[in-house]
Amino acid sequence: MKTKEGLWKLSPSGLYDFDDCKACFWIDNHHGKAPGIPFVLNMAMDSVLKSRYDIYRAKNELPPEIEKLGQEGVSLFKDIETLNKWRGHVSHLQIINEKAGYILSGKIDEVMVEKDGRLIPADFKSSGYAPKDDKKKYYISQLNAYALMFREHGHNISDRALLLHYFIKDAKNPSLDVEFISHIDPVKIDLEAFEKKMAKIVELLNSPYPGDDLECQSCVYYASR
Ligand SMILES: [Zn+2]
Repeated sequence: MKTKEGLWKLSPSGLYDFDDCKACFWIDNHHGKAPGIPFVLNMAMDSVLKSRYDIYRAKNELPPEIEKLGQEGVSLFKDIETLNKWRGHVSHLQIINEKAGYILSGKIDEVMVEKDGRLIPADFKSSGYAPKDDKKKYYISQLNAYALMFREHGHNISDRALLLHYFIKDAKNPSLDVEFISHIDPVKIDLEAFEKKMAKIVELLNSPYPGDDLECQSCVYYASR
């Protein structure tokens, strides 16, 4: 939505929709998003993973499933108090760019640190099945958004961010002790490209409705009613 000052209020995860369907993204930002069903299981899994990472953080270790990052000198961000602020409320990482016409605010799941101290934004993605490669492009903006927010708050940032996938090993296994497999998916951080994208996003939102996208299931559904 637009603020009184004429700035578009955007969130890192909300940028997914710009890459998904520009028409739906335009409508959601002009008229508000239709209430959806919360992904309760994903939210619970995020909470489990945060607690899991916090246990290893306190021991100055990495969870075993991401141990190979340790060989590159990567560690978990140590300052839990600051991390909990970033996790807890969107205001702490918020940036306001009046010239470009947007406010970007959101919460982050996890932060790691390169050997030389640069921050690596990370996001947990839990799912019932292994991540599909073609989905990754939708998350590039989300992770670049976190990197931009960190940079604007004075932090040095890495040239990579991490998607930390956790998915069910065998959906046909009837045991309630559900076993998860993890997979680390690095995303390149390119803030010059990302800022150009933010300019395109604001330009789209400041323009008239772009018209239904006939390849989008939601657009076709609403158009047919
Ligand atoms: Zn659409």
